[in-house]
Amino acid sequence: MTTTTAEATTATDVLIVGAGPTGLTLACTLARAGAAVRIIDKSPEPHRASRGKGINQRTRELFDDLGAGAEAAASGTEHIALRKYRDGVAIADTVPFADRTPTPATPYASGLLIPQWRTEEILRGRLAGHGVEPEFGSELTGFTQGADGVVATLADGRRIEAAYLVGCDGGRSPVRKALGVTFEGRTDAEECMVIGDVRADGLDPAYWHQWFDEDAAVMLCPFRGSAHWQLQGTPERDADGRPLAPTLESFQRLVDRCSRQAGIRLSDPTWFSTYRINVRMAGRLRTGRVLLAGDAAHVHSIAGGLGMNTGIQDAFNLGWKLAYVVRGLAAPGLLDTYEEERLPVAAWTLGLTDERLRAVTEGVKRAGVGTEAVITDDVTTLGVGYGWSSLAWGGANAGERAPDGPCGDGRLFDVFAGPHFTLLGFGRGSAQALTEAGEECADRLRTCLVDDPEGHARRAYGIGEGEDALVLVRPDNHIALSTGADRGAEIAGRLLRLGH
Ligand SMILES: Cc1cc2nc3c(=O)[nH]c(=O)nc-3n(C[C@H](O)[C@H](O)[C@H](O)COP(=O)(O)OP(=O)(O)OC[C@H]3O[C@@H](n4cnc5c(N)ncnc54)[C@H](O)[C@@H]3O)c2cc1C
Repeated sequence: MTTTTAEATTATDVLIVGAGPTGLTLACTLARAGAAVRIIDKSPEPHRASRGKGINQRTRELFDDLGAGAEAAASGTEHIALRKYRDGVAIADTVPFADRTPTPATPYASGLLIPQWRTEEILRGRLAGHGVEPEFGSELTGFTQGADGVVATLADGRRIEAAYLVGCDGGRSPVRKALGVTFEGRTDAEECMVIGDVRADGLDPAYWHQWFDEDAAVMLCPFRGSAHWQLQGTPERDADGRPLAPTLESFQRLVDRCSRQAGIRLSDPTWFSTYRINVRMAGRLRTGRVLLAGDAAHVHSIAGGLGMNTGIQDAFNLGWKLAYVVRGLAAPGLLDTYEEERLPVAAWTLGLTDERLRAVTEGVKRAGVGTEAVITDDVTTLGVGYGWSSLAWGGANAGERAPDGPCGDGRLFDVFAGPHFTLLGFGRGSAQALTEAGEECADRLRTCLVDDPEGHARRAYGIGEGEDALVLVRPDNHIALSTGADRGAEIAGRLLRLGH
């Protein structure tokens, strides 16, 4: 791939390279905000692999915001029992997050088990609703960037001109490599796992079956409404100890050996892969008009199920910022806050998943513990905030996730849904500030006088009973500012100077 400098005329606002979960989420956030977007993928068609098979609590909230939450819930499983076997004998059943219940501030106590192909299908459906279709069979082979935009070249010779290009093109990211951005970290060449999707007859689909022996393991995970299960296990190795590529026969041998049951029959494989642990992150996320998101920016172990979730959450952070810049609502400086906020989160995720991998490796050796050892509050990512950000404009909770809460006949998350900022007013004394800021910033701000007699929202936002206050919530549903009810003019001023 080549990168040189050239002048370009803008034909689309944003070109997204890669129609995986990150690229699709980004495309949805841009398209709904009125930005022109094209999304290309070199693959001739969408893949059908289960891969990253969970969306976590925070991603569920963001899917609600995109209007995809109900469809995801109807396609996934909220609670599944992990059945652990040792030497073929069932020794423990555990259900992650079974002891948690939704609260007014946190509507999802658990994530959803759902195959990645289905998550992507749902996102493509949302995107189609905005009139955008991913262009499959379209491989990026090079790009140039200049002062006005980017010109991308495809393998078939087509050229696409865009104001910005975002590489959501996976761990091997040709975009990242063309930029020369570093991807420091490590590859555990020896530690690997075979993985694939197969039919499995003779097993109870109420359980995620997990067999552990001294020197081998295999897990079979069912999916709602599908005859296919995801198999993850120890690879067979050649005489030199090198892992062999998986086949249906090697999967069957592994299951026979670990389960010690003759009745489990595997068939109809639709996907095989060998998964090696890579722990790496990009040195930067923005180079002029080109940005990186998702696996292109960070890869790590699957312990904790954060690969896909982190990419989706990158996209949710970046989407509104790019949309505001290309629509002239903000200066390009706003884009620097993407790296400022998400690079530390990537570093945190690498550390967390390393720690969870160690916990699960140790855990499965003990009698009462299984892969639920990966599950901690951290992997919900509900606690991820950007307190250090230049967009955290004041107040004790600036930068944090904006909690949900009752509001009139609905809830705050309904008010937040969309690409706008939301100014919440608590107490009648905030009404005038809401009116003034709402009029001044009508193109980017929605206002809401919080109607919550029981005080759930007040408590969640740390506002005292009877206190008049304003809380500004960003389009990606993080708190920008929490302040007194007399500072409406300051808020409007900040919103009109975004990125300056
Ligand atoms: C084999 C495998 C198994 C996995 N298993 C798990 C798991 O069990 N649990 C888990 O949490 N995560 C798992 N992951 C990780 C998870 O799938 C990723 O974190 C997630 O897919 C990242 O999404 P993304 O959109 O950033 O990148 P990707 O899903 O990798 O999408 C990148 C897209 O870019 C396209 N592309 C690449 N180069 C070009 C180009 N030059 N031009 C145009 N398009 C291009 C690719 O075709 C691809 O569709 C697995 C990943 C793989 C590959």
